[in-house]
This record gives sequence, C-alpha cells and structure tokens, in this order.
Amino acid sequence: MSVTGIDHIGIAVESLEESISFYRDNLGLKLLGIEEVPSQKVRVAVFSAGESMIELLEPTSEESPIAKAIEKRGEGIHHIAYSVASVSDEIDSMKSKGIRMIDNAPRKGAGGTRIAFIHPAASGKVLTELCEHPKAEKEN
Ligand code: ZN
Repeated sequence: MSVTGIDHIGIAVESLEESISFYRDNLGLKLLGIEEVPSQKVRVAVFSAGESMIELLEPTSEESPIAKAIEKRGEGIHHIAYSVASVSDEIDSMKSKGIRMIDNAPRKGAGGTRIAFIHPAASGKVLTELCEHPKAEKEN
C-alpha cells in the first residue's frame, strides 16, 4: 500500500446550497468548484483545506448511495479518501490480500480523478476511498 496522504474527507449533505456557506464563509476554505459526478449520482462541492480537501456530497437521485446514507445515518462524515499513485495497482494489491472491494475496477471521481472504494466490512466500518489524480504534466 502506498498512500501519500489524505486526499479528502467526504461529507454527506442534503443541500449544497445550505451547506457551502459554513465551509466557505465560517471556516474560510476556498471553494474550488462544484461538479456533478453521474457515476455516484451526486453533486460535489470541493474545498481546499491545506494539503487535503473537503468534498460535500449532495444526492441527485434517491438511488444515490449518498441519499441512502443520509436516510440511514443523517448528514455527516461519509468517507475518507487516501491519495495513491495508481488506483489499479492498489485494487490488485487489496484483492491479493483478500480485502473486499466495492469497486473492482477504477471509476471516475470528481476533478478527473480515478477512484475505488474499499468495502466498509473490510475497513472497520470506515468507508475508505482510494483516489488517483491525473498526472501532473497534464495540469496547468
Ligand atoms: Zn470522495
């Protein structure tokens, strides 16, 4: 496992509009952008928090995993995402150790990332995301 940091913490919210102001205006975090991620049926607001980010997740459908999480547990911390160099390599590594994955192949996350979730049954009930950013030479 080659984790290089905590990429972001994902927080489930009912409404981005109602939740953004606390992070932007009270905590003073910079809002990097708002984006829809169809693969997870969410709208995501991403804030910079120093070395890491905060990701607010609003469901766009009742089928969204975020809608189900809010229904079960209410709003709040949903997952922790670790930065890795290669999600594919980490999935292979996890599977070789018998760790159960939700995603057996990388899928698209916010900001052009490739992500995969580890099953919470394998990670002490903490929903854990592996997150790979696009290679630096393609960024400006
Ligand atoms: Zn995330």
